[in-house]
Amino acid sequence: VHVPRSSRLPQRWTAGRVAALAFLLLMPAGMSEAADQDALPYGRGCSLPGLSVVEAKGRDESVLWVKADGLLEATLTLDVELHNAVASRALPLTMDLLGRRSVELVRITRKDPSRAWSFRWQWRWRPGGRHARHDPDVVYLLPYEPSSRFVVAQSRLGPFGHRPGSGFENAIDWSMPEGTRIRAARAGVVIATRGDSRLGGPGREFENCSNYVIVRHQDGTFASYMHLQPQGVLVGVGDYVQAGAPIGLSGNTGHSTGPHLHFDVFRNIDADRRETFAVPFATSEGSVVDLQMGRAY
Ligand SMILES: [Zn+2]
Repeated sequence: VHVPRSSRLPQRWTAGRVAALAFLLLMPAGMSEAADQDALPYGRGCSLPGLSVVEAKGRDESVLWVKADGLLEATLTLDVELHNAVASRALPLTMDLLGRRSVELVRITRKDPSRAWSFRWQWRWRPGGRHARHDPDVVYLLPYEPSSRFVVAQSRLGPFGHRPGSGFENAIDWSMPEGTRIRAARAGVVIATRGDSRLGGPGREFENCSNYVIVRHQDGTFASYMHLQPQGVLVGVGDYVQAGAPIGLSGNTGHSTGPHLHFDVFRNIDADRRETFAVPFATSEGSVVDLQMGRAY
């Protein structure tokens, strides 16, 4: 996590840009899950809702299942440490949920019946999926009321949360007051939402605390609309939303230093990594990919 201290700012930055950054988030809420058997050292404050792994125990065989609740698409990675046991599938295992409610992940069987056996499993997941073919010709709407203008607090490849390697390289952050109506930038199906979080702040412990709406597009890419205000989700999982449809109310939940909307278009690479896409937005100046930090659109 990179804290935006003023000493980090390059000299050529204008005062306007620096002012815009006052509202900047540090990094968008991480989407990786910390709810494995052994809690990870961060992200304890929140876990993402929607997916759980359950174990059906037997004397000589156990089965691990993943169950979805109010979530249509996710990418999951499971690993199992085996002691005197064999797994039915190669591990670690990465899979996409693809709209299924319940999927058998792996069967674990005792190897030597005369000896004790055991296993320990860990898993991670993130909403979305891996199978996109990004259509570069689609122009996105700005994700708010056409009559409004908001300052870009962090652009593509921005120096804080959108650096190369962050998984958020092509994300855009707009500073905006909490409660601003968010509109779908492109049509699609809502595959995941969260609206019950009241937690947010600059610390990494807030990574999994963001409220959000995630929409799957026709080309298989996904849009994420992050940091929505508590109860700020206006759509349900499974809803089809047209471009421009109201989908949420902006806020400051999750890993964030001030009220803003984080938006990106992505596909998952696995449960830990995501690829984002640079997309053009329809602005008053025409179609623009490189929205400028510190400027209002
Ligand atoms: Zn961001």
